Amino acid sequence: MEINYQCPRCQWGQTAEENAIGQTLECDHCHEKIEPGTGSFVSGTQQVERCFVCNGDQFYRQKDFNRKLGLGIIIIAAVTSILTENYLPLGVAVVVDSLIFLFLPLITICYKCKGIYRAFEPNPTHGRFELIVHDKHR
Ligand SMILES: [Zn+2]
Ligand SMILES: [Zn+2]
Repeated sequence: MEINYQCPRCQWGQTAEENAIGQTLECDHCHEKIEPGTGSFVSGTQQVERCFVCNGDQFYRQKDFNRKLGLGIIIIAAVTSILTENYLPLGVAVVVDSLIFLFLPLITICYKCKGIYRAFEPNPTHGRFELIVHDKHR
């Protein structure tokens, strides 16, 4: 299990392991101290309930999709298709992208601080991304 989050002060991207939960974190970049949120954020079933960075309790889930990779595959295939005047590579790329997407794991993301929780058990109370909830945290 792994958590990717940004320092609230300098926005430096950082990674924390599961065992960092409940401890005071220090930013590698600006040395800002991040106090852990109160209460438990991972329930007994390893589900995220409360964000350990910002103490937020609203999350959404999405596929752990690398957009740059997905787009890269399509662009390379499109260029190949144009150069060879054959649309097969593009068709194959679309299929490959869809297959990758199908088997991707779900990640849990905090609305408030955009912290990403990887490989935690999915919490059934977390839904898909909702713009209304997102706007509340801006
Ligand atoms: Zn920082
Ligand atoms: Zn958060």
